[in-house]
Amino acid sequence: MRKIRRGDEVEVISGRNKGQRGKVRINMVDDEKVVVEGVNIVVKHIKRGRARQAGRIEVEAPMPVSKVMLICPNCGARTRVGIRTGENGKNARFCKSCDKTIARPTVD
Ligand SMILES: [Zn+2]
Repeated sequence: MRKIRRGDEVEVISGRNKGQRGKVRINMVDDEKVVVEGVNIVVKHIKRGRARQAGRIEVEAPMPVSKVMLICPNCGARTRVGIRTGENGKNARFCKSCDKTIARPTVD
């Protein structure tokens, strides 16, 4: 089971975006990278095309999942995540700070 999932609220713990928080928009599991809403913004320069003008757009660049930590929805702390078998026999994530099970993030 993955420790960070799409829809999780995370905080950046290192690099130039340190301290920023956002929701995981894309989880690139194979690359061990995540795209976090509003974090790690880069400016892309767009060439003029048939149906659009030249310009610059700001997009969120993927960043290593090792650079973010989960914010526990129960206690609000930036926390380490553990995995354990829940009451239903399935694996569930839990917060190593408050020891509560972390619910599946709601993804819209
Ligand atoms: Zn917690």
